[in-house]
Amino acid sequence: MKVNILGAAGEIGRSAIQLTTSNSNILMDYGISLSKNEPKFPISISSKELDAILLTHAHLDHSGGIPIFYVSTKPRLITTKITVEISELLIKDLIKLSSYYLPYESLELTNMIKSAKPVSINDHFRLKDLSIQLLNAGHIPGSSMFFIEGDGKKILYTGDFNVISTKMLHGAQIDIPYLDAIIIEGTYATIDHEDRTKVERDFVYSVNEIVSNGGTVVIPAFSVGRAQEILCVLHQYNVKGKIYIDGMAKDASSIFLNNPDFFRDYSLLLEAHKRAIWVNSWSERRKACKEPGIIIAPAGMLKGGNVRFYVKKTAKDHKNAIFLVSYQVEDTPGAMLMKNGVYNFGGKTEKVNARIKWFDFSSHCGNKELLHTIKMANAKKVILVHGEKNKLEKFKIILQDEKIAEDIIIPEVGEEISI
Ligand SMILES: [Zn+2]
Ligand SMILES: [Zn+2]
Repeated sequence: MKVNILGAAGEIGRSAIQLTTSNSNILMDYGISLSKNEPKFPISISSKELDAILLTHAHLDHSGGIPIFYVSTKPRLITTKITVEISELLIKDLIKLSSYYLPYESLELTNMIKSAKPVSINDHFRLKDLSIQLLNAGHIPGSSMFFIEGDGKKILYTGDFNVISTKMLHGAQIDIPYLDAIIIEGTYATIDHEDRTKVERDFVYSVNEIVSNGGTVVIPAFSVGRAQEILCVLHQYNVKGKIYIDGMAKDASSIFLNNPDFFRDYSLLLEAHKRAIWVNSWSERRKACKEPGIIIAPAGMLKGGNVRFYVKKTAKDHKNAIFLVSYQVEDTPGAMLMKNGVYNFGGKTEKVNARIKWFDFSSHCGNKELLHTIKMANAKKVILVHGEKNKLEKFKIILQDEKIAEDIIIPEVGEEISI
């Protein structure tokens, strides 16, 4: 068995891994990197000999390049049902908004969606000489890890994963001992997350404080997952005030509500959404800013979306707040807001008077959880991907010092590894 690392080597973005055995040739994820203005793709491979494409989850850094394979061929796309639907939403949006050249169009996306063969989490299936099982990854709804056996070897590809349960999802459980290799993400390889319950309580306390003083809390959140998780937290802790949800988060919510099987507590998801006011017009948007309440809207890093309108309307007033609940990539408007307390109000960067606070609602494992996972997996080879190179190097030293693993690889792009 061989794996070829086509992307996400020493970087977060453009995840893509080709796996070949004596009889099979599959691709696991084929995402893009959007950190620069133009999307960056993984190393290209021929689609002709591909037996199937397996997709861990819908985020564009895992799914955004897949339509390329549907220009001249139609490989089978294997993933969960909800991942098919969310990928379609996200890639459609990418095509619509892209001001740069994309090597595919809507037609290829349509062919990709038509080629999808949904599989359930925990189901086993065979693909030529491979035995494959999807396992819950606990990252976003429908996210899965791939446990693959072939050529007498066992391998696990985690994709993005989280072992801590959230309001919406059960945490991932990894109890497959004696793997030949684990390909594991290291987004937060060197960082420990704060205790989840404590984060939730601090967040709810701060929200209640602002709303009871007559203020508005604006929560920039990623459309898929984070917006709905925040909504569930607010509802379960019974916060005061009206809760508004706007932008593409509503489209993601509609998909979620149509797929009850993917949630830990569907009735909480349903009740939280019933309570929320779905904003659909500019008059409603303006109205939402005028009374005390909570507004959840994408984008999570303030790079686009309706949230920019809400920030402009509320940020000058001391009684309001902007609570960031997503990771803020350097140089994004969200990172500038967090670091310097400023925002670009249409051409002019000015100081923000509203309270600004960041809360760690991560959907990835932290250092402690990654160490534990690798210990449990007891794999002969540990392949670290989806992380910044210097952080992965530090993490490798920890793994060696604590004698958790010996053969640890931080691959280069294009590196082929024999399992
Ligand atoms: Zn992800
Ligand atoms: Zn990712």
